[in-house]
Amino acid sequence: MSQQIVIDSLAFVQEGGSLTGELALARLPRTHDWLVDTDGSVSYRVEASRGERGQPQLQLSVDGTLALRCQRCLEPMVFPLHFCNTLELIADEADLTQEELEDDSRDYLQAQKELDVVALIEDEIILALPFAPRHDSCTPPAPSPDAGPGGEKVSPFAALAALKGKPS
Ligand SMILES: [Zn+2]
Repeated sequence: MSQQIVIDSLAFVQEGGSLTGELALARLPRTHDWLVDTDGSVSYRVEASRGERGQPQLQLSVDGTLALRCQRCLEPMVFPLHFCNTLELIADEADLTQEELEDDSRDYLQAQKELDVVALIEDEIILALPFAPRHDSCTPPAPSPDAGPGGEKVSPFAALAALKGKPS
């Protein structure tokens, strides 16, 4: 079940390869900090492609639905995961110009003879996850027992009035 998926990245592009499958979330332990539920899986597709100048690329798409933990109310939050990233294969990151490194519209991946596809998918999922997931509007949590009866607060004006009314 948990066999590795390893490709020779440049050969994969030359052969016009494509890979599709399902990946259990249990196999992506680095995503687990975000997840309420590590059951389930995501589907992925890795496809060879070429850039404008014929440069070798991998197109990686991932689809799935994750249950993240809202950082405000700590309740589960459904997160539709869907992305398609194009990764340009390069011989060495050191060969990139400053301009290329700063171009946010392009992503690079060092070409490897033994590219671990599962680790790559895990990296890309982590990049796609929100840093601090939050519901747009949380359902109000149950009043905490520390809030006092009814959770009411004494307004500063009422406190002041009470003070003024006190006989000196
Ligand atoms: Zn929430």
